[in-house]
Amino acid sequence: MKTIPEEWSRLSFAYYPTDYNVRCYYRDGKWGAVETSSSEHIVMHISATALHYGQEIFEGLKAFRGKDGRVRIFRWKENHERMNFSARGILVPEVPEAIFEEALRRVIELNADYVPPYGTGASLYIRPLLIGTGARLGVAPADEFLFVIFVSPVGPYFPTGFKCVDVKLVRDVDRAATLGTGRYKIGGNYAASLVSGAQAYSEGFKMALYLDAKEKKYIDECGPANFFGIRENTYVTPDSESILRSITNMSLRALAEDMGMTVERRKVPVEELSTFSETGACGTAAVITPIKSIHDKEMNAIYRYGDEPGEKSVTLYRRLQAVQLGDAEDKFGWVTVL
Ligand SMILES: *Cc1c(COP(=O)(O)O)cnc(C)c1O
Repeated sequence: MKTIPEEWSRLSFAYYPTDYNVRCYYRDGKWGAVETSSSEHIVMHISATALHYGQEIFEGLKAFRGKDGRVRIFRWKENHERMNFSARGILVPEVPEAIFEEALRRVIELNADYVPPYGTGASLYIRPLLIGTGARLGVAPADEFLFVIFVSPVGPYFPTGFKCVDVKLVRDVDRAATLGTGRYKIGGNYAASLVSGAQAYSEGFKMALYLDAKEKKYIDECGPANFFGIRENTYVTPDSESILRSITNMSLRALAEDMGMTVERRKVPVEELSTFSETGACGTAAVITPIKSIHDKEMNAIYRYGDEPGEKSVTLYRRLQAVQLGDAEDKFGWVTVL
């Protein structure tokens, strides 16, 4: 048995061991039963396609404990659908919804003691993983696969409150090809951004922002998060074949419309960065990371948005969090209460 965190609010966004994970194996053309495991390791063939040919898909979602003590999972059906979209994209068998739901409910129930209490800012991060485990030496999809879900309690992304970050606009590396795999949530896209991400970090930036690979004219997304800009009453976010469909971004767009804002999802030229009053990155881990400045070194341009998060970003963040925690009415049906 592992230890339950004593100071929830001091957790960071890092792997924290829990008691159990759940697994399901695909063999002979079909998925088996959902199994419980207390091991943090996977025994795998040395020639598994996940290790050689990138058949590796992951997802990320969160569960929150509300004021009423109950656990709420945020938009899991969207994560399930996106995982299967990624699966179709790299020839991995889809996981039926019933198996995904059974695995999800079981892994949370078994690790219920690790769901952080209400009011700590912490939550339970849920990580589904879907990989090719069958052995291949020639390039081909595997014939055996493994679906795992593990969880980890994580602290508030910004322990001291919302913090604005400096971002580097990367021009010398493409994270994803225009018609490549950028729209799938797979490890390969992350591999492609590790060097430029580390380089940006070493130069003092907290994040890298990538452009479309073909014309280098339009904003694509940040390494692990979508991008948005706000101008007056309009929420603008890039539409591109090579970015991941962030569920946080989808939710923010719905909330923005609900607040009476106009939402535009379209190509966003780099020059438009100078017209926004607020910009941010969005994803499950932080919800919104407000951006202080974007540095386009090669073009000798710096776009500045102020040291404090903008009013619209703060409102969107608060509204989304209130739904996740059960503090606000779930008018879009996003939350599954356990
Ligand atoms: C996971 C991810 C996001 C954020 O998606 P959410 O569903 O909002 O968590 C954005 N971009 C990339 C590349 C990602 O992998």
